[in-house]
Amino acid sequence: MKTIPIVRDAKLFIDGEYVDAISGDSFDSINPATNERLASVANAGVEDVKRAITCAKEAFDCGRWSKISVEERSAILCRMSDLIIAKMEEIALVETLDVGKPIKESIGFDIPRAAQNFRFFAEMAKYIVHEHYDQTNFMSYAKYAPAGVTSLIIPWNLPFMQMTWKVSAALAAGNTVVIKPASYTPLSAVMLGEIANEAGLPKGVLNIITGPGSTVGTAMTNHPSVRRISFVGESNTGKTIMKNAANNLIPVSLELGGKSANIVFEDADIDEAVKGSIEAIYRNQGEICLAGSRLLVQESIYDLFLEKFVHATRNIKVGDPLDLATEMGALVSESHLQSVHRHVEVGIDEGAKLAYGGKRVTGLARGNFYEPTVLYDVSNKMRVAQEEIFGPVVVIIPFKTEEEAIEIANDSIYGLAGVVWTNDIRRAKRVTATVDAGLLWVNCWYIRDLRTPFGGTKASGIGREGGRHSFEFYTEAKTITMKL
Ligand code: NAD
Repeated sequence: MKTIPIVRDAKLFIDGEYVDAISGDSFDSINPATNERLASVANAGVEDVKRAITCAKEAFDCGRWSKISVEERSAILCRMSDLIIAKMEEIALVETLDVGKPIKESIGFDIPRAAQNFRFFAEMAKYIVHEHYDQTNFMSYAKYAPAGVTSLIIPWNLPFMQMTWKVSAALAAGNTVVIKPASYTPLSAVMLGEIANEAGLPKGVLNIITGPGSTVGTAMTNHPSVRRISFVGESNTGKTIMKNAANNLIPVSLELGGKSANIVFEDADIDEAVKGSIEAIYRNQGEICLAGSRLLVQESIYDLFLEKFVHATRNIKVGDPLDLATEMGALVSESHLQSVHRHVEVGIDEGAKLAYGGKRVTGLARGNFYEPTVLYDVSNKMRVAQEEIFGPVVVIIPFKTEEEAIEIANDSIYGLAGVVWTNDIRRAKRVTATVDAGLLWVNCWYIRDLRTPFGGTKASGIGREGGRHSFEFYTEAKTITMKL
């Protein structure tokens, strides 16, 4: 893991070929750990998007992907999965350099999970049940046909994993796709083009565009040939995308922001709860939608929990993302670091107490390294408890009773996820039934069975993907009734 690969400049991938933007423009991708330039990236414009969508539409209409057998599609997608595994080290290094995240996570989780995404949806596509009802005088059956050209728009925090989560399901269902990674982290995403070519994916089925959300993203959501939009990103961007989709009346899947409650009850195994809560806030530098960023702790164990949590926070190894011992890397950009820091200052102004962190890491000033930060004695009304910080900052909120914990958990515009730490199974059932969120974990965090629905309530999103839910979204149901 010591060798730094030669990071290649990133071009657009359209109709099976890497090409420059029509304008010839480019922008730089920056390494968050050094703030040095990593690579030049093609800066697409609206005409490039139109070209990619036209290619995707032609590829869809001619049926060289949408109409071949599911077994043929599945075989190609399984080859893509195998190629991701074969190129694991290279992709993981590029991901770590571009995102600033620890190599331990890229190689140990994100990239293997990306390969798993492809294999999972490739296999599952073969077992989609098409409904069939046989009556005396007629027979009805429903087919789930691919929807058509699909726009996939991805954020910067877990780029390769998030992208493959969407693209593998959309392709397995028989669609053609245009993908846009975030401008901060486009380098791993564009590598999927060569993987698609090597695996034998027909030209035009997968297209990748890099460029600004305001122009390129808008063109991908406005175009009348696009039949599905799947988006991961901020709640406000999600609203804009939904408005654009309304012009063409097309379904959207929106995975948006979060401010999830991580509730620790007095009957929990405290050491397990500390370990799990540390992971839930500091993994990926806290730049994770599912983060347990509001830590609710029952008053009777509050002091003990706080002491253990701060001790564990102090021991987190922040540093060079390429070092296998590093547990927390750099934030994605200088401006994001400044935004995280402003939130901490606002929290302290509002009356939150700082137990640890709250500043840039000394000695690592070249990069965007921020200390893991603990704010305690926080009230849920404070901005720091209501706004998504999307960084390594936890707010600890005391509560007295189960009812109060649920009330606090639900007092948020978001409803993405939640965690309950308790040894009382009845309490676990009651609390998970009442917390308004799409994903709830009991005595664990971030464990995913890909067959289960994934998504949030309220400002955290619309729709669910995962297992059959992905296939429902990426297909059109068609009912055929025959008189016998
Ligand atoms: P963002 O909304 O700024 O950008 C996401 C993507 O949308 C980028 O590719 C961006 O270029 C593009 N975009 C921006 N404006 C657009 C527009 N008008 N039309 C179309 N596309 C546009 O989000 P971000 O800062 O990249 O990511 C962080 C956010 O993502 C956080 O809020 C986080 O919670 C959320 N997120 C949610 C999930 C989930 O599963 N719910 C997962 C990861 C991240």
